[in-house]
Amino acid sequence: MISEISHTTPTARKPHRCFACWVTIQPGETYDRSVLADYHTAWTIKSCLPCSEAMQFVQAYWEWPEEGVGEEEYHEWAWHASRADSWATEEERTAATTYLNRRNGENK
Ligand SMILES: [Zn+2]
Repeated sequence: MISEISHTTPTARKPHRCFACWVTIQPGETYDRSVLADYHTAWTIKSCLPCSEAMQFVQAYWEWPEEGVGEEEYHEWAWHASRADSWATEEERTAATTYLNRRNGENK
């Protein structure tokens, strides 16, 4: 069971990498920072804001797994949701398509 200790949207002071799409979050950009913990340890997840907004779709796709979702879960969700014949709403399909564009883009 994972719980969220804190969830903030700070401004980056140094470059960070989004855990989900791997883009570089540049100094001065706002990003999403979550501190998570299970029974044994705590860790920090940093993501770009679009990936943070897509998190709800990824979690729903994976039926809200207790262990959370990672880069592989994002990628599989996006691959399926972005297909023209998928179940996804236009909003979700756009989120999936832009995720794939970020992940495959040059801004690494
Ligand atoms: Zn991202």
